[in-house]
Amino acid sequence: MSRALAILVIVVAACRGPAPQAPRPPEPHGPIPTTPEQPTELPAQITWERVRSAADIPPMPPPAGTFRVHLIDVGTGLAILVQGHDFALLYDAGTNDPAEKPVRVLAYLAAALGASGDGLCVDRGQPAPRQRVKIDHVVLSHPHADHGSAMDLVIHCYDVANMWDSGRINETVFYREILTAVGASATAHYHTAADVPGDHVVGVKGTEIKIAKWDRFSEGDSIHLGESAKFTILHAEGKKLADPNQNSVVIAVALGTARLLLVGDAESGDREDPSAPVGDIEQFLIEQHAADIRADILQVGHHGSMTSSRRAFLDAVKPHLALVSSGPKLYGKVKLPDSVVLEALKAIGATILRTDEHDDHCDVDQRLGGDSGPGGCDSYVITIAPGQPAAQSP
Ligand SMILES: [Zn+2]
Ligand SMILES: [Zn+2]
Repeated sequence: MSRALAILVIVVAACRGPAPQAPRPPEPHGPIPTTPEQPTELPAQITWERVRSAADIPPMPPPAGTFRVHLIDVGTGLAILVQGHDFALLYDAGTNDPAEKPVRVLAYLAAALGASGDGLCVDRGQPAPRQRVKIDHVVLSHPHADHGSAMDLVIHCYDVANMWDSGRINETVFYREILTAVGASATAHYHTAADVPGDHVVGVKGTEIKIAKWDRFSEGDSIHLGESAKFTILHAEGKKLADPNQNSVVIAVALGTARLLLVGDAESGDREDPSAPVGDIEQFLIEQHAADIRADILQVGHHGSMTSSRRAFLDAVKPHLALVSSGPKLYGKVKLPDSVVLEALKAIGATILRTDEHDDHCDVDQRLGGDSGPGGCDSYVITIAPGQPAAQSP
């Protein structure tokens, strides 16, 4: 092969296998049956490749028993696609780079899942797709534009079966457009951590939106994804907290014997050194879900900001692989990630994959989604393959 592929292999220690399950309360709001536990003691093999163009994105689902996690370079935002042979889950779809809406996410989804929808779903001048493609689950971690600016288009363009949202209303245009798309979707079942209004009508920025299929989810709910795959809600807060980051829907995704932790912009508190005491959602997760936050792969909280990734939290998660999604736009006065957070990740032995490294010297012909601003150069496909019996040491 002409291009050098940096492929590293992590063998997940067999003892990491299925984490001991804490007893769970009944799941009165769990709308989808809990997946049966199907543990295997074989270690998973985790490999990854940088995506330099759409040609590097596998166009077919992985084979049974293998899973993919796609870290999509959306510029200054977050979008992660999780894929098995029988499901697809998209966690966030947004960017703070205005020119980027929808090109990076939709270009990536078209390559990975197939183009879907109508003329709004492709670049201008391109023929409309002739099909509609299903996405089983879309999760909005919290209502900030860098996590949801392209989500209305995803819901418009794809047959999204389930949409998960904290339910914390943000009086913004992008959030209104997401809920409008959910209300108009022929397929989407809407799940929120907030109470469901009796009339199924929600008002956002001057518009009343009716959503017919709507129910509530709770912390501890476990949702079947596919064969040997499920996700569990570890943090669900629908109240209107001062900072929407505190509403981040945190999910632990079990993919065979591997574990992926998606935390959105969950924080510990103010911007401080990782050695500072843990707080806020990170403290809650350590205290309430110590076993379930152990993960092989961590989406690093808040784009690698010093608001998150306290050392105590990283020690509890102990990831082999740390996914940092960030771009050139400032968050407040700072560009993320913070170097001290990267150092803390290295100190626990994690390998870091970043979406912000090649924006300035990317081959524009291969920039995923076209040459219009940052993003599209540093996506990664992470493959989780079942372990081989020979790899098991006595
Ligand atoms: Zn964010
Ligand atoms: Zn945020």
